[in-house]
Amino acid sequence: MPAGKKISRIGIGYDIHRLRKGRRLVLGGVTIPHPRGLDGHSDADVICHAVADSLLGAAGLGDIGLHFPDTDRRYRGVSSLKLLSEVAGLLKKKKASIINIDAVLIAEKPKVAPYASPMRKNIGRALGIPPGRVSVKATTNEGLGPVGRSQGMAALAVSLVETKE
Ligand code: MG
Repeated sequence: MPAGKKISRIGIGYDIHRLRKGRRLVLGGVTIPHPRGLDGHSDADVICHAVADSLLGAAGLGDIGLHFPDTDRRYRGVSSLKLLSEVAGLLKKKKASIINIDAVLIAEKPKVAPYASPMRKNIGRALGIPPGRVSVKATTNEGLGPVGRSQGMAALAVSLVETKE
């Protein structure tokens, strides 16, 4: 391949967190009124975590656990939008630019559609890309398995980035 030619690289991310009473529910950086929230070291924003992992994967930079270990006190209770900003910085260092992101939340409740637009704006702002490059959607697990029993929420994301190789 000739030097300086741009190549596209795809990455996938997956995350799951348990639901727990007494926690705020934060998804895509939006606090959503809900009887329970996701449990975790940070704000447990499962959408942002899946997006972060997909971006790191696309850029060949490892995963979220490598860069933001849950043993690191700096990340306790932190907004996952901040993690996304740091991921954007890592990609920038590698001269990788984000083409687009597609994320899907898997949860029985709540309905995400009313919050999709602010989530896309939050994620776009944190990454320094227009919200039009970020897609956030949701599906239920049809009552099946732990997610179907509302014991937790999961998210998947894919990202496409462009790098000079
Ligand atoms: Mg997580």
